[in-house]
This record gives sequence, structure tokens and C-alpha cells, in this order.
Amino acid sequence: MSYLIAIDLGGTKTITALIKNKKIIKKIKFQTIKGKSNVIKQLISSIYFVLISINKRKIEKIIIGVASPVDEEKGLIINAPNIKGLKNTNIKKILENKFDIPVIVLNDAKLQALGEYSINQNINSLFFITLGTGVGAAFVYKGKVFSTEFGHSIIQLNGNKCSCKNKGCLQAYVSGRAITSLYYKKYGKKLLPSKIFQLAKKSNKNAKKFVDETGFYLGIGLTNIINIFNPQLIIVNGGLSKPGNIILKEAKKVIRQNRIINWKGKIIISQLQEDALFYGAIYIQGSSAVGP
Ligand SMILES: [Zn+2]
Repeated sequence: MSYLIAIDLGGTKTITALIKNKKIIKKIKFQTIKGKSNVIKQLISSIYFVLISINKRKIEKIIIGVASPVDEEKGLIINAPNIKGLKNTNIKKILENKFDIPVIVLNDAKLQALGEYSINQNINSLFFITLGTGVGAAFVYKGKVFSTEFGHSIIQLNGNKCSCKNKGCLQAYVSGRAITSLYYKKYGKKLLPSKIFQLAKKSNKNAKKFVDETGFYLGIGLTNIINIFNPQLIIVNGGLSKPGNIILKEAKKVIRQNRIINWKGKIIISQLQEDALFYGAIYIQGSSAVGP
């Protein structure tokens, strides 16, 4: 019997799951709190929670996906701009010392992309993007995954300031945080992205214009991706992906107008949603799918 613990450590929420024989059997979701020691305490208690009534020696691995670039060999979180206090944290060492179970740390988008690939294995090239607190992305080619910093590709010269301190990054236009703060700056109302999308769907003029602009920037970013990688499939996931279907409409228009190659691929919303990362953890259990 093989058990696995997989953790999705995100900027807003964290989910810890227990997986038995490749099936998710238990999940706990909580808000990610600020500060290194708080985050670690939270992770440890969530692991204890999913371990209730299971002998920890039955757990083969703990796989963590973090919204950050990661030194996979060391298990080090290099810099997580959306999770305060975790810069240069060796999460692998901390959890291995605590639980004596092997820990694997990966970028979250990389794991999610592999999860999406695991249910699309007939596809040779897949570009995955997640729109959440920030923007994550990874590219899967013939079953091997590569991380990207697509969220920090510059789509507007001298544009909005990003959490990475550069200007004009895609993330400074299409992430959850950016959407709320840009809308507030423009129209003086502090609204969650889902509320803004809802208003746009109801044809509220300001919201509609704003959402079209957001879709425009996403479209510019994805046009670049299409011109570089020509992926067969683009999958959009993340908290904003479902209500944000409305953004994709505009993005697709921009892609049609601007791409250079005769692109035959398609863009879809993830079916796996928040489980993509756990499917990725199941997929890499005993595989060598992870590239640089
Ligand atoms: Zn940036």
C-alpha cells in the first residue's frame, strides 16, 4: 500500500492532501499566513492532520509545490514574492528532520502542469498557466516539464510595478492581486476579481472595459508563447480561471490578430482545477519527468 502526502503551498491558500494508491483520499485547505515560522507550523500541523490514524512509515514521500522558484536539489525556496518570509527557506531539510520522510520540493506550476499532462498524454507540447494570487506557468514537452517565469515576462514597457520590482510584467496586469488593485486605482472600488468578472458579465461598462483590457494583456503574453513554442494545448488554471473565462474571449481575439505562425492548438480551462497539483504529485511518484 503506498501513501503520499502532497502540499500546494500558495500565496493565499495552502492545501495538504493524503494520497493512497494514486487517489486523493483526504484534503485540508487553509489560508497561508505570513512569516516563516507561522507557515512552517501550519504545514507541520496539516501533515499531522492528514496522518491521523496512519502510521507515518507508510508514507513514501512528501511532495510540495510552492509558488516560487525552487532549488530542487537542495529543496530550497529561493524567493516567494507572494508568500512573505519564505525567501531562502530550506523546507526539505526542515520537514525531513521533523518527519523522517523524504521530501521533494518543486515549483507549483511545474507540478500542476504535470498533473494536466497526466490526463492529456496524447499531447506532445502543453503550455500551462495558472492565474491566482500571482501568475505561474510551465511548459511540458514530450512528458518532461520545464519551469518558466512567464508571469514576469514584460508585456508593457515602463508599465505597472510588479511584486518582483520590475515594471510591466504580465503578473502586474492579470494576477488576482493586480486585478483588484488596478481596478481600485481606476474606479475607486476595492473588489475581488470574481466580483469584477461578474459585473462585466452583467455588462457593467467600467467592469467590461477593464476585463477586456486584462484579456488584452493575457492575449499579448500568450501570443508570445505561441510564437515561441507553438504548443498544441494551452491550459489555464488558478482561482481566476473559471470566473475569468470572460478574459479568455478577449485574449483569444488578440492571439488571432497578432500571432505569426498558423497556430492549430487550442486554449482550454483546466478540468482538474485545484487538484492539478495533486495529479502532478501522483504522476512524478517514481518518474523522472522533472526537467530544469
Ligand atoms: Zn515581475
